[in-house]
Amino acid sequence: MPLQIYNSLTRQKELFVPLHEGRVMMYVCGPTVYDDAHIGHGKTYVNFDVVVRYLRYLGYRVRYVQNITDVGHMLDTGEDRILKGAARERIEPMELVERYTRRFFEDMDALNVTRPDISPRASGHIPEQIALVQRLIEKGHAYVVNGSVYFDVSSWPTYGKLSGRRVEELIQGARIEVNPEKRHAADFALWKRAEPGHIMRWPSPWGEGYPGWHIECSAMATKYLGQPFDIHGGGVDNKFPHHESEIAQSEAAYDRDFARIWMHNGMVMVGAEEMHKSLGNFMTLRQAFERWSPMAVRFLIVGSHYRSPLDFTPEAMDAASRGLERLWGAVRSVRERLQTAPEGPADDDVLASLEDHKARFLAAMDDDFNTSAAMAVLFDLVRVSNSLVASPEPVTRDTLAAIDAAYRELGGDILGLIPPELPAEGLAGLAADLVQLLIDTRQELREAKQYALADQIRKRLRDLGIVLEDTPHGTRWVKA
Ligand SMILES: [Zn+2]
Repeated sequence: MPLQIYNSLTRQKELFVPLHEGRVMMYVCGPTVYDDAHIGHGKTYVNFDVVVRYLRYLGYRVRYVQNITDVGHMLDTGEDRILKGAARERIEPMELVERYTRRFFEDMDALNVTRPDISPRASGHIPEQIALVQRLIEKGHAYVVNGSVYFDVSSWPTYGKLSGRRVEELIQGARIEVNPEKRHAADFALWKRAEPGHIMRWPSPWGEGYPGWHIECSAMATKYLGQPFDIHGGGVDNKFPHHESEIAQSEAAYDRDFARIWMHNGMVMVGAEEMHKSLGNFMTLRQAFERWSPMAVRFLIVGSHYRSPLDFTPEAMDAASRGLERLWGAVRSVRERLQTAPEGPADDDVLASLEDHKARFLAAMDDDFNTSAAMAVLFDLVRVSNSLVASPEPVTRDTLAAIDAAYRELGGDILGLIPPELPAEGLAGLAADLVQLLIDTRQELREAKQYALADQIRKRLRDLGIVLEDTPHGTRWVKA
């Protein structure tokens, strides 16, 4: 069955047909770079990484744009996130932005997230944002007050169509509004006047100021992807007001659709609460990486559907670590046995089984990127390959190569969970090499009938938590 994607705009799964054959234009709201990324960011960008990987696997040329918000994103208190971070660290705002942009990409690299094709920065697209705001004023959808510009939601009756809110109700919310410049509570800032002392400021037709948060995504998405474009993604917490406002601005400015498909990923939960910086219940990715491997974090995220909330607990992470080791262990065994396997044609039964697994895996992915079902198929494959590798019967090189290829394709290219070269089991680099050196030395001692010394090596390794297992195909080691 061809790919179906759940569209938040129509609230149903739809057959995916891109605007231009063979091409997909995709935008995902990026991070505000004022602090380290947390698990919630990890979930969002791993989820959309799998989407991009799968679209590319299907043969589409994808242009993936994910912005960097480095200006204009306010806290509920009205403080600018970037300025607050810069004051906290006593550095220039752009220094803060540079620091956390680099750290963000380091974290994403560790999670094996493919980098976007374009990572446009809001501060690098001020003229485009000013032009869009001007256009909205000219078309009667925005008004200027004291050097700030606001979008007039009453001028755009479909405001609310994404989140299902009614514009009349939003307008009636005016009673609780504290900003006297706005005509209606639901109106939002397109451009803000810079107060004296506000460091980040640019000249504009309305005086010195800076852009509102929502306008950057509209300006940059349209600049690099055209309008309309195929897919807009982001966390479900951004549906309102951020995405709603993006839609209103862009559609009001150009009188045509903005994004055709809206995809929203579920939040990371801690108990019954969403993980949020404002709730103080968040864990940064770097904190998590001190305790678990980044790939285990990815494993946990990929193991549930992107639209589902994800319960992030130490127990779930420990289970994910074990699951990842199990998967990697199966792949390692295939690759190890491959090195000494006899020549010969691939086993037809195995090939048929691989085809069946692949078909079921792709059917799961075609069903709105159902990675949890796809993972279940991958673990069916683990059972098949483990029992094959454990069998005393000879298995040909072509058979093992076909299994390895299936792992690379499904677990590697699509889910991003199996790197082309697996790290040594539980140990990295030199430590793993030293263990291998001792295994080789023990083997030489045994061949020289120096059994007491050989056993001594085995015992000393065991004391260090390394257990040697002698198999018909050589000696392997595992951590106790
Ligand atoms: Zn956005």
